[in-house]
Amino acid sequence: MDAKSRVRIATTSLAGCFGCHTSFLDIDERLFDLVRQVDFDRSPLTDIKQVGDCDIGLIEGGVCNAENVHVLREFREHCRILVALGACAINGGLPAQRNHLSLASVLQEVYLTAPGPAGGLIPNDPELPLPLDKVHPLHEVVHVDYFIPGCPPSADAIWQVLTDLVAGREPVLAQRLIHFD
Ligand code: SF4
Repeated sequence: MDAKSRVRIATTSLAGCFGCHTSFLDIDERLFDLVRQVDFDRSPLTDIKQVGDCDIGLIEGGVCNAENVHVLREFREHCRILVALGACAINGGLPAQRNHLSLASVLQEVYLTAPGPAGGLIPNDPELPLPLDKVHPLHEVVHVDYFIPGCPPSADAIWQVLTDLVAGREPVLAQRLIHFD
């Protein structure tokens, strides 16, 4: 298979816990089959800093800060097929529980009220991405092509969707592979 016909995959974690990537790695020795057919672009598994043109983008985590929005838009621009991987990417997941509270009260509680160093400060270095008022699922920011549910999705579910997409088939998840916890 020449470089041109090889499928190129990018992955990233936004407001995620890396659990979905860990579940992806749980495909175990099937990784060897996968790397015979695909190349990895930007991903926590590579050292590539900027996402390039790809066939498939897998994204775990919702959108909780300005950098997440930037990275998500870059993935959408460069990935022909974008996949929301896991509960956080699909509906904000557990991190979206903070949506019940005001951002100001969360920052105040964590940095100023809770026990910790005296004279605490809410971090304000310009290098830090500004948090958003609410945590959002991916589809509220960009178009998403496929969703793989679960927290995390099982390795078998990820494998099923990936192998279907790599082969150019419409992904079909068997009922036994669909769960939301
Ligand atoms: S869906 Fe679950 S495993 Fe995946 S990033 Fe969110 S919290 Fe982690």
